[in-house]
Amino acid sequence: CGIFGVIGVADAANFVALGLHALQHRGQEAGGIISHDPGTGFNSAHRFGYVRDNFTKQSTMETLPGPLAIGHVRYSTAGTKAAPAIRDVQPFFGEFAMGGCAIAHNGNITNADALRRELIERGSIFQSSSDSECIIHLMARSIQRNIPERMKDALRRIEGAFSVIAMTRTKLIGVRDPLGVRPLVMGRLSDGAYVLASETCALDIVGAELVREIEPGEMVVISKGEVESSRPFGPSTGRFCIFEHVYFSRPDSIIGGRSVYETRRQIGVELAREAPVEADLVCPVPDSGTPAAIGYAHESGIPFGMGIIRNQYVGRTFIEPTEQIRNMGVRLKLNVNRALVKGKRVVLVDDSVVRGTTSRKIKDMILDAGAKEVHFRIASPPTAWPCFYGVDTPERSKLLAANMSTEEMRDWIGVDSLSFVSLDGLYRAAGEAQGRNNSRPQYCDACFSGDYPVAPFDQLQRGFHM
Ligand code: 5GP
Ligand code: SF4
Ligand code: MG
Repeated sequence: CGIFGVIGVADAANFVALGLHALQHRGQEAGGIISHDPGTGFNSAHRFGYVRDNFTKQSTMETLPGPLAIGHVRYSTAGTKAAPAIRDVQPFFGEFAMGGCAIAHNGNITNADALRRELIERGSIFQSSSDSECIIHLMARSIQRNIPERMKDALRRIEGAFSVIAMTRTKLIGVRDPLGVRPLVMGRLSDGAYVLASETCALDIVGAELVREIEPGEMVVISKGEVESSRPFGPSTGRFCIFEHVYFSRPDSIIGGRSVYETRRQIGVELAREAPVEADLVCPVPDSGTPAAIGYAHESGIPFGMGIIRNQYVGRTFIEPTEQIRNMGVRLKLNVNRALVKGKRVVLVDDSVVRGTTSRKIKDMILDAGAKEVHFRIASPPTAWPCFYGVDTPERSKLLAANMSTEEMRDWIGVDSLSFVSLDGLYRAAGEAQGRNNSRPQYCDACFSGDYPVAPFDQLQRGFHM
């Protein structure tokens, strides 16, 4: 999901709409905005669909007045995706003795089922099926006298990944979980006006300058132009999601002082060193494979070409919630540039293989178009484990790499060769010159390594084996 908040500007909701638009790649199912205005109090709008179709209408935006607003774009992960319901769309809102509070959460709470059961037994009335709603109910039960302190109480009971943006009548609040699995940055618009956002590309769109990232385990409370920082969870070292670098974030974002584009390009360089091949053309599977393909072509000296053309009017395939739509998605979205690939030995570069359906279809399309050989190069290690921290990787039985060796995958996809970047190669591309520190890994890479930095409590209860 994508989250955005702003304080200290006229018509804050318009800024939020722009910010969410820049974060649309993080969630396309639905979006919501809550604003606060001293005259009318809290106001909200929650809609299915794209930001541009919902939060550009004047009739909607004029219902969201005030200098303080937060928003959320939703991408439903396992467990919450059965039937999309508007009551699952964030931000969520709670009214407490000391006033209202709205929250927007990115990530996934790994003990949400257990907490929900406990809260319901003790009288909480849930409105949604979302794991994030637990935060509001835990806050309601806290005995602290102000909202930031109640939020700390609540978040200390929560396990898993959370970047949270919240607001009261007068404060904008940002928090990251102790491992900082999901991103969150702070920007400044002008004196006293601050922005919190999932990624820096959302600061750029509103013209905010990057102040810094919120640190893993940090809470910031912004009001009256002051930023107050605290560490509610004690000392911790971050384990940021390495897959944000590979795929999830936008390439024009800066993470940990590093360009996401540059990291992706560098993954292609590592791939070319680790898995060279004689070929005539390097083609990205657009858009997710493009920077890595540029790096592969550069390092190998093989010409780069757009052998597959993407229809710009279709969103990210994997974000479509059902299998059937995902299957159609490949053809709706991608087409082969016959004139370019005919008769050639083609290196195809994509970011990841999950179920393998994309790779298999693209291989068919490219062979139909007359390519002589197809060599797949993947800009991440084999995805062999599900993510429980907010990215929608399916269960192990559906993950190709959980059930096949690389050679079996090569055969199943039907290509001449198949190689994945190594975990160390990926770490090097992400700026860790020595690769992965196996005794203290610098990133979360559980979907590749099975090394889960937070034990997924609910999943283990359901019989998942790590
Ligand atoms: P596949 O067809 O192998 O299931 O999906 C791979 C494609 O989905 C890749 O091109 C990639 O861009 C996209 N994708 C990236 N990350 C994920 C993810 O976490 N889950 C899923 N299902 N697809 C992803
Ligand atoms: Fe990111 Fe993979 Fe870790 Fe999930 S399991 S947080 S996708 S690195
Ligand atoms: Mg892709």
